[in-house]
Amino acid sequence: MAKNAQLLIRAGYVYKEMAGVYAYLPLGIRVVEKIKQIVREEMNAIAGQELIMTALQRKELWERTSRWDDEVVDVWFKSTLKAGGEVGFGWSHEEPIGEMMKGYISSYKDLPISVYQFQTKLRNEVRAKSGIMRGREFIMKDMYSFCADEATHLAYYEATKPAYSKVYERLGLGDDTFITFAAGGAFTKFSHEFQTICEAGEDVTYINREKGIAINEEVLTEETLTSLGVTKDELTRVTTAEVGNIFNFGQQKASDLGLMVKDATGNEIPVWMGSYGIGVTRLMGVLVEKFADEKGIVWPESVAPFVMHLIGLNLEDEAVRDWAFGIYSALTDRGIEVLFDDRVEVRAGEKFADSDLIGLPYRVVVSKKSREEGKFEVVTRASGEVRFLTEEELFGDFDSNLNT
Ligand code: ATP
Ligand code: MG
Repeated sequence: MAKNAQLLIRAGYVYKEMAGVYAYLPLGIRVVEKIKQIVREEMNAIAGQELIMTALQRKELWERTSRWDDEVVDVWFKSTLKAGGEVGFGWSHEEPIGEMMKGYISSYKDLPISVYQFQTKLRNEVRAKSGIMRGREFIMKDMYSFCADEATHLAYYEATKPAYSKVYERLGLGDDTFITFAAGGAFTKFSHEFQTICEAGEDVTYINREKGIAINEEVLTEETLTSLGVTKDELTRVTTAEVGNIFNFGQQKASDLGLMVKDATGNEIPVWMGSYGIGVTRLMGVLVEKFADEKGIVWPESVAPFVMHLIGLNLEDEAVRDWAFGIYSALTDRGIEVLFDDRVEVRAGEKFADSDLIGLPYRVVVSKKSREEGKFEVVTRASGEVRFLTEEELFGDFDSNLNT
């Protein structure tokens, strides 16, 4: 089993329902929500508006673009309605959203618009062997832009690149994530993928950090190299995971879908469209794969389910217990996210091992000793650094760490 799934299951973040299908437990959903919130903030910053599409989809929408056929799209899950007729389970939402937009845009004056959702995508993937990095059911952020002219459209496409880069930076993946030339479509020679160096990834990318160039192996041809002005020996081969993908459809998609608007001269033109995906749950898997050590998971502070793991020892002693719960309340009252290990029957060693496995940024011990000495042992999970803080320092330190 993939390392991410092993650790996430053992630490209680996810439950494996079947291959490629995972439930997100109370700890796990907090990580998912934090990743989503970072993505949400960055999409809102480029005028994205959140909505949510449906999981059940109409067959005729996909027939129109010849994508209902299992020979064309090999990941469909489909079913039949009791009332008659077939439905598809959303593996993508390009066709439905294009259709929906017909109800809301008819003139260039209605544009530009960019909308996005966090949606559980259902894909009948043949291989599902990378834990939560390749699910048959997984959370994606997918955004779609609609513009009335090419200049606005291209400017928006370009604006998504730094927005995406900010997402990966905030997740602690900035240095290892590359905007990568990948296979294009009917309209453009290339699309752009965001590839993160990761041993458990399924892609191969050729990178040059100095030149800021990355090329997916799939499009690594002489022609590509020449057009980008690099030679193959300037590039390093790395294993990567695709954590995002942006795609410029030009007017092709809207033309296929019949999504038209009137331009300034009154002509009906197909809308300029782009689509922009981020693999939310895949990113969670990548973070585990990249940062875990031999003791367990190590979350970046930006997505950790809690900032602090408060380890209560000697809690069978009522005085210690009352005092420890008081510290816990005081911390949570300040808005500090604390997970309190208040188990009485569990040995200290086991609590520390569990804490290392769960991987919260800071571990703080509240025990008979810390109460008597007025000092708290604070261990930083990522570096192993140990500090002893007074109560004032403890609260001060974590207050100042808020919103980081
Ligand atoms: P892949 O090449 O990995 O199969 P894709 O090209 O089909 O992905 P898109 O349809 O562009 O992916 O989806 C957008 C993003 O969703 C991807 O960049 C990836 O991060 C994520 N993603 C795609 N498929 C899966 C999956 N089966 N499980 C988890 N995340 C996925
Ligand atoms: Mg891909």
